[in-house]
Amino acid sequence: MLRVNLGQLHREGPVDVEAEVASDDDLWKDTDLEWAGKVKVGVRASYAGTGEVVARGRIAGTLVQECRRCLERVDTEFAEELTMVFVDDADEDEDGGAYALDPVGEELELSKAVREEVLLAANPFVVCKPECRGLCPLCGLNLNEGSCDCSTEEADPRWAALRELKSE
Ligand SMILES: [Zn+2]
Ligand SMILES: [Zn+2]
Repeated sequence: MLRVNLGQLHREGPVDVEAEVASDDDLWKDTDLEWAGKVKVGVRASYAGTGEVVARGRIAGTLVQECRRCLERVDTEFAEELTMVFVDDADEDEDGGAYALDPVGEELELSKAVREEVLLAANPFVVCKPECRGLCPLCGLNLNEGSCDCSTEEADPRWAALRELKSE
């Protein structure tokens, strides 16, 4: 798991933490995050300033998302630099970006902070390709795969209302 032993950090200096988090790990529960394969996390934790713990490194994995236009599956390579700061009193942190330094015994759990960082960095609006034509709003056909007989005029309810007016 993604834990830093603070005793070790205190005695020996910076600690490297490396982990592969499974796509079905509890960590991703209650989020929209879906991964294809494992998510690699590697950070180096060190003490900084007045007892803060800073964990810096990298996270990489393949996110499984939906094209916002045609709803087809889109796999995106997700790779981000991580910088997480843990302070005793996170509420007092001026930038608001720090996490609570709230160890269990000697161990500081990093996984929730990692999840937060991913949620902040992940782009929720992906498209399968820039020229994706999306779905027909009337029949739902994927317009990348063919065209339907629905006229675009029909698709706009304002035209239908106009026609009704004229025919009266
Ligand atoms: Zn698409
Ligand atoms: Zn259609």
